[in-house]
Amino acid sequence: MKKRLLKRPEPNLDESMIGYLLRLSDANCYESLSPILSLLDDNDCEVKAHKIRALCMGKLNIERLSHLTNKPQNTLNNLIFQSITLNKSQYFRVGHASISDELMNFRNPAICVQCLTESSYHRKIWTVASYIVCLKHLSLLQDTCSTCHSVFNWSRTNLLKCRCGAEIKAADSRQVESSETLLADMTAQAVTGHSIKGHPLIKDMQSFYAVIHLGYMLSSRYSWSNTELDLSSQIISNRHTEALNAFKPFANWPESFHQFLTEIVVINRAIYPAFSKPALLFRLSMALDRSPLRKLQPDIYQAVEYELENFIRSEQTPSILLKPKNQNLMQEKLLSKEETKNMLSVSDSSFARLIKINLKSPSSDEKYSLDNVTELRDILLRLVTLNEAAKILRLSLHNTKNLLKSGIITAFRGPDVDGYRDILIDTKVLNDLLTAIGNSVKPKSIHEVIPLSLYFKKYHYNSTHTFDELIHAALEGRLSIVNFDKENGLLGVSFSKDELLQLIDIKTKNKETNELLSINDVIVALNSYRDAIYRIMSAGLLKYQMATINIKSAQRFVSAEELDRFKTKYILPSEIAEIFQTNATNISERTMHLGIKPVSGPTIDNGLVYIFERKDIISINKQELDKLQSYKTRTGRPKKEQMTPKNKAKTDYMDAQTVAELLGDNANIQKVSRLVKKGFIQAVQHNGELGNKRYFKSEVVLQYLAEFRNNPHLIKLQDIPTWLSINKRRLEIDWLKSGRLSLINDGLGQRYAHVDDLENIKKLRISALSTQELAESTGKTRQDVNNAIRLGKIQPISGPNYDSFPNFLFDRTSITKLL
Ligand SMILES: [Zn+2]
Ligand SMILES: [Zn+2]
Repeated sequence: MKKRLLKRPEPNLDESMIGYLLRLSDANCYESLSPILSLLDDNDCEVKAHKIRALCMGKLNIERLSHLTNKPQNTLNNLIFQSITLNKSQYFRVGHASISDELMNFRNPAICVQCLTESSYHRKIWTVASYIVCLKHLSLLQDTCSTCHSVFNWSRTNLLKCRCGAEIKAADSRQVESSETLLADMTAQAVTGHSIKGHPLIKDMQSFYAVIHLGYMLSSRYSWSNTELDLSSQIISNRHTEALNAFKPFANWPESFHQFLTEIVVINRAIYPAFSKPALLFRLSMALDRSPLRKLQPDIYQAVEYELENFIRSEQTPSILLKPKNQNLMQEKLLSKEETKNMLSVSDSSFARLIKINLKSPSSDEKYSLDNVTELRDILLRLVTLNEAAKILRLSLHNTKNLLKSGIITAFRGPDVDGYRDILIDTKVLNDLLTAIGNSVKPKSIHEVIPLSLYFKKYHYNSTHTFDELIHAALEGRLSIVNFDKENGLLGVSFSKDELLQLIDIKTKNKETNELLSINDVIVALNSYRDAIYRIMSAGLLKYQMATINIKSAQRFVSAEELDRFKTKYILPSEIAEIFQTNATNISERTMHLGIKPVSGPTIDNGLVYIFERKDIISINKQELDKLQSYKTRTGRPKKEQMTPKNKAKTDYMDAQTVAELLGDNANIQKVSRLVKKGFIQAVQHNGELGNKRYFKSEVVLQYLAEFRNNPHLIKLQDIPTWLSINKRRLEIDWLKSGRLSLINDGLGQRYAHVDDLENIKKLRISALSTQELAESTGKTRQDVNNAIRLGKIQPISGPNYDSFPNFLFDRTSITKLL
């Protein structure tokens, strides 16, 4: 290939690839991009939307382009938007910034006529959808022809001429106020420098996008829908309005945010008079829950949450009455199917189902009444997820589902309603329920009352009625509500104690002295946890009986004598450590190493904890037990003999079968393969020299065993509850889910925690409590604890807004403050 183009203009530093190709075409008097594209690629010279994107990303033959233009490849590479993948999302390198796909507009060129007049080339930054205003000329970029009103595309080689032949003039572009340049300014900062300055939440294009996206979810779309903000698909003038609108709550952080919240509260209070203050902000809470912010931008997430809490705490309850809706324009206007669809702005499949169920079947000309469509759109804007409904009512998800199942509240959309994937509830329905509750209050000051929160804690487990039956009874007047504090949602309901206990058929007499012990009592007595106790029972070591005591279904109970018998005969590891005043680390393993055989446990009968016979324990020598703390399995290698390959294989290598046997616990060759696949051990490369078997270096295998099988510094996940004297659920929620304790996987599904980490947690737990633990030890609900934080009565020592953890920890002194 010897040909070069006749005219070979210099590329500019901030020029886009597509722009340069256009300029080349124009300079060489081609009327479209096609001739140049066919020179670059023998097969494909069509100009299509996806082709433009590919060209911008550099998917073209740079070598040929370099030859055609006689420019070094480096110079040409500089015109490209390099594509990078971060956290599974696509980003483009524009100058110094990494810009997410959603903020790139490859489809339609946007231009500043004055810039082009000064120097006729397409600037890279014009492709970024948030760069809406030319900062040099303070005018809105143009992407639409003022003569034929069509959106520009890349088919013209001269950017200043529309397809219709009209010239694009600077006079057609709108001048903007300096207050409208904020977003373009931040974009330019990110592209030309390394960071964005002057906004407390925004540092780079990622946080920039996150903030706009959140603002967008809050202001202008269905917050239950998962559709991403897509600025790039809109024409400039709409994009400008939409982006500025989305950014409004954050424009002057945090004052603008408080202003925004005040407006929401004022409007919503008129619509939902029965909602608590936090419930009035349901859109915000749902948007926060559903936005990817929490994971991708935890700092912004926390800042928003913090200001929200501040707002709820300080809010002065402004209240206005909404003006009645404008009724004057209500002549029966009809909308076409297309207009209806645009107005509802939902997906095609949603649209079909929504109109089928909710709109009157269209007249023969397929038209819908504007009234009906507007009403449907209003409902769609009010919908919340089941999760959010639970928050508004201040119930658990489970109890909210019960209300739904029993028909006390109804879903507007959902799998059973219109086939939509999520259950969505009209907030009006929730307001109606709370209003009905509020209307049925009959104050009876003489009677003792039971708030719903207390009912859940104390009576619900033994109640003969489900929660929804209780609400039903209250709504029908069979159960008196004597107080309703709407700030606490349904939890703010208080019943008359006499009536409630009568209804749920609970006898308040004291239990008899010869009582049966519940599972909870046994857990406490043996200092173990629920699942372990069930395993001990199913191993036949502890006899139980089924009984129905204050509970609808029969439960397991243990007699006091049986528990005594068990405790005299058997002993659990935690008690061994206690008796010998020794470290509880690996106490079971150490006990077994002294030759004492457990009767039950992980390696015996798949029990969850080891159980020893008490009589065997008496013979243990404390010093020997203590000495074993530093015990480590020998990891010495076998002696070497002659170094023939076969001999070497025998001594230095192990085959898969041997490895499996060493792994123990019914390990097989498949398990060994899993370890290889996951990179824990590697097979020796012997190229058939040792037959067709796979061999492993003994050293490597023993190292693995030392690390995971015999390592006194690692505690198995299932032993952690005993080790920390914590129940499984609390371990899971307070320590694992929150990321305060991380586990190590051995590649075979067994997970461990490091002893050092556990020691630290143990120490911490002496002085610290989780929210649930604090609630339990003070007889309050978690909600009470959260309220106490909000009111400044107690202060967490760790948690959201304090450090990076998602759950709270409190100093034990908080107990007295809460009581
Ligand atoms: Zn300009
Ligand atoms: Zn035109």
